[in-house]
Order: sequence, then structure tokens, then C-alpha cells
Amino acid sequence: MTLVAEIKETKKQPVRGMMDNVMEQFNSAADKIHLHPNIRKILSITNNEIVVNFPVKMDNGDVEIFRGYRVQHNNALGPYKGGLRYHPTVDIDAARALAMWMTWKTSLAGLPYGGGKGGIQLDPTKYSQSELERITRRFTFALADNIGPEHDIPAPDVNTNSQTMAWMADTYMSTRPPAERTANQHVVTGKPAGSGGLEGRDRATGYGVFLSIKFWAEKKDMCLTGKKFIVQGFGNVGYWAAHFLEKEGAVLVAVQDAFGSIENQQGIMVEDLLDYTKANKGSIVDYPRATHIKKSDFFATNCDICIPAALGNQITSENALQINATLIAEGANGPTNVEGEKILLERGVSIIPDILCNSGGVVGSYYEWLQNRNGELWQLDEVMAKLEKKLRESFNKVHDYSEEENLDMRTAAYCLAIKRIERAYIERGIFP
Ligand code: GLU
Repeated sequence: MTLVAEIKETKKQPVRGMMDNVMEQFNSAADKIHLHPNIRKILSITNNEIVVNFPVKMDNGDVEIFRGYRVQHNNALGPYKGGLRYHPTVDIDAARALAMWMTWKTSLAGLPYGGGKGGIQLDPTKYSQSELERITRRFTFALADNIGPEHDIPAPDVNTNSQTMAWMADTYMSTRPPAERTANQHVVTGKPAGSGGLEGRDRATGYGVFLSIKFWAEKKDMCLTGKKFIVQGFGNVGYWAAHFLEKEGAVLVAVQDAFGSIENQQGIMVEDLLDYTKANKGSIVDYPRATHIKKSDFFATNCDICIPAALGNQITSENALQINATLIAEGANGPTNVEGEKILLERGVSIIPDILCNSGGVVGSYYEWLQNRNGELWQLDEVMAKLEKKLRESFNKVHDYSEEENLDMRTAAYCLAIKRIERAYIERGIFP
């Protein structure tokens, strides 16, 4: 079948969830490495799924019921680790898939962690700051001992931030016996620097995305100066990735957020756009030094590098043919689905997969956790240097394996991640 005929065929099929996507990625890598069938069975399912419904008093005195999730996929290598997101798309399917991606991400990064993920199904723009505080505290209380500094360690994700983590840490610590309180600070990472957070954790994910692009360019003997890039999502990850790329001489030419899309082929100044969004309720819409473009035209923008840094399932068979970039650097989790990826790879587009590309965040979290556990305070330059070293090692490992085995970077990353977990199971055996 020709590529175009195949795409038409795929378009007829119903849209699949994120879990289908991650399972297909997992199974194809598991086939490549001939993963032991028993371990395939274990890794194909999640260990624990916690769903909590909890009431919160709203500013007007009414009580609203919220549904929160925490899925713990696997802890063969250490405590469950991963973010909590506040978004209308949060459901059990999304939480399972995102938890699974965390297992591969922490394994690939060589961290002593497993994978977990969760969140609350809500649109945070509809709530006041004090409502969000009460929602967060009550959610933390509802999760109770299902989280813990040596058991499951949440972190920020979509629409959650250092403030959310400060509320979580405070609530968790307040519910411990007095003598244990401060020793539990590392129950969450991504806290504000003044409350046990790590200097530089805010930029760690975006910096990691930038570094992955830089390492990729180095392998191709390519200079980033003058290279055009587009960013989907101008939140923490998108902004910091753009900030570091601009510093390296690359030019931001288009941005899309939840509210609109803008383009300027002469360049959009990153800090200027950030200042504008701060004064414009966080939105890029009507930014005066760029042109508004249609949502569906965003991925077709003329550029060299495309950074999806928003939600999952954004690059699909619907738009993969339009993409002009030669490199996709996945700042988000699961932004490219299996069908979209197939088309891109056939067209010769390189993809730095999420579990490698955005792993700077969880590596930063690990440093924060170590800092808290050891009662230390690390300096920003120290953190950035450590991050660069660690991410370079990961990038080289994936790059070399993909060359040796003639695999795309995602499959190579999965193979390496799964092998590390397989080894732990083989060495330890299965209880009893
Ligand atoms: N939410 C981030 C991710 O998806 C960070 C997770 C963490 O630091 O635990 O990787």
C-alpha cells in the first residue's frame, strides 16, 4: 500500500487513547529485545490505581466534588515518581499511559525510581487561587499514605507548579506526627526554592529539551544559529526551551497555546512574548508583533525544529504530512501518536522521544529529592552542570544504541529502559 493510501486507511479508524499508543510503543520495543514473557505481563499492567472523590468548599459556600487519580505503574527500580496534572482531559486512561511513560523515563535516565502519574479532572482557569489551594490540600489528604517520600513522589505537570507542590508538601507534613514532619519534605519535588525546592528545577525540563536538540545538532555537525523553531505550548517547558534555544542563536517563528496560534518568520522575541502573556492572562492571543494563524496551520509553519510542549496526541496522521521541520523534540508526554510517527519516520524526520527529550524535569526532581534527604542546599550552577552531564550521557546512550541496532530513537530509548527493568526482575525473582 502506498503511504498516502495507508494514511487514508488510518484516518478511517477511530481515534485511539494514549494507553493504546504507549502499549504499542512498549510492545514493539519488547519484541525487539525479546523481553521475557513474564516480565512483559508485569509491565503491561499498572501496579495500583487510586481514584478518589473528594468534596471542596467553593468561595461562594457551595461544595463541589472532584475526582482525582494516582496511577502507580511500576516500582521495580524504586519509589513511584511522576507529576500531577490539573486538566479536563485527566482520566484513568491518560493517567495509566502517563504513569507508564514515567516508568520508562526514570529507567532510561538511570534513576532509582519507578513510574506514577495522576491529577484532577478540572479546568483550573475556572477556580480562584484559594479554591485551587483547598482542592490541592484536600486531594493530598485524600491520597493519604498512597504517596510518601520513599513510596510515591508527585511533582508538577500540566497546570500545576511550585505553588501546588508547596501546598501538597505542607498538607502532607501537617498530617504526620510532629517528630516526622520536616523529614517528609521530599514527599513531592518541584517545590519553590524557599521551601526545600531545587534551584533550577523550574527550568530543568525546558533546559533538557534544549540540550537534547543541541546534542542532536552536534551529532549532525549542525549549528543552531539561525535555525527556525516552533513551539506548541508556552507554559513552563515551552518557554524555557525557547529561552535557551534563542540564547543559542535559533529563531522562534511560531507559537501555539490553548487559546490561539501566532507566526512571525522574522522572529518572535521570547522574553517579550513572555512579558506579553503575563499581562494577558497567560495567553499569546493578539500578541502585536506576530500574525494570528489558523490552529490547523500551526504544524505546517516553515521551520527546522518543532517542539510540541503541550498535551498528548497532537501529531497524528492528520497533520504529520504537513510538518516541515526535520526534527521533532518532544517536550510534552506522548505528543506524537504511533500513526503520526510512522509517517514522519518514513519522511526522514527525526524525533527525540519524550522519555529522553523531557527527562530533564525528573532528573531535576531527583536532585531535589537527594538535596532534601541529605539536608543539603545546592547552587544553580552546580544543578545546571549536573543536569547537562546526566542528559548528555542519556542522549549518547540512546543515539549510539539506535545507530548500532538501526532503530529509530524512540524504539532505542524504550529498549534500553525496558532492559534495565527486566534485569532487576531477573536478578530478584518474583515474590514468593
Ligand atoms: N511531570 C514531569 C514529567 O512528566 C516531571 C515528573 C517528576 O519530576 O517527577 O516528567
